[in-house]
Amino acid sequence: MTIRIGITGAAGRMGRTLIEAIALAGDELQLAAAIEQPRSSFLGADSGELSGQGRNGVPVVGSLGEVIDSIDALIDFTVPAATLANVALCAERGVAIVIGTTGFTAAEQGEIESAATRIALCKASNFSTGVNLCFQLLDMAARVLGDEVDIEVYEAHHRHKIDAPSGTALSMGEVVANALGRDLAKVAVYGRQGQTGARERETIGFATVRAGDIVGDHTVTFAAEGERVEITHKASSRMSFARGAVRAARWLAGQGAGYYDMQDVLGLKKLAE
Ligand code: NAP
Repeated sequence: MTIRIGITGAAGRMGRTLIEAIALAGDELQLAAAIEQPRSSFLGADSGELSGQGRNGVPVVGSLGEVIDSIDALIDFTVPAATLANVALCAERGVAIVIGTTGFTAAEQGEIESAATRIALCKASNFSTGVNLCFQLLDMAARVLGDEVDIEVYEAHHRHKIDAPSGTALSMGEVVANALGRDLAKVAVYGRQGQTGARERETIGFATVRAGDIVGDHTVTFAAEGERVEITHKASSRMSFARGAVRAARWLAGQGAGYYDMQDVLGLKKLAE
């Protein structure tokens, strides 16, 4: 069976990489639609040429509604407002969706979760296999090192990124907080300046760097007296995220309605049990 995929944000950094990843994924997957925002200067362009793959005959269109009936799954890496509209349309038409967009409020996250009662939906702050492995390593490190260490999350991304800290950094903080029975909303410290006073052990600090073309670096430090453990992931190409998102779209084809993440797709939850 061929799975027909649509990509929203097709002319964006991730959109172009996703088009390439689908072209490399084999016959089981077919790029069936490329969608951009209605005022995009790329409307009508050949999406294969946009992604540097050569012509593929799939033009960029200005609305998901035009093509929704010709796809089985949508992969969406855009902006929160666009993703929410796309999720609503997918839920209405029974189309599975993979969501890579980050930066949602708690209320918006609730909207996404309620759509997942109607369709198969996979959302992850990071689709790379390496980062999802790191989530498991972080859980283990937090459980072993526990309250003996200070925990800090560092992340660096390219200068165009519009949200901070990154969704991945927040997910890493959540994994660690959950493992230690802490509420991230209460213990997170976002940046420090001036007379901060001494560090409270239970806080989890976040530091953000925005510079140049960094694809995505994350380090979580567990620092005790006399030693420290650092778990680091460095992405050097967006293809690591795109391959994961395409894998998720293929995996969703065999699932019923529900809210899934990349840990489900990779089978890492079973591994941790
Ligand atoms: P980007 O280069 O700015 O791409 C976003 C694209 O979405 C742009 O082409 C934008 O068009 C388009 N867009 C905006 N509104 C739209 C709409 N209504 N319909 C269709 N397309 C629309 O950003 P990016 O670096 O690819 O990142 C996109 C998102 O993915 C961000 O939230 C980022 O944090 C996230 N991300 C997630 C992962 C992960 O693994 N989960 C990895 C990388 C990035 P205009 O530029 O014309 O507005």
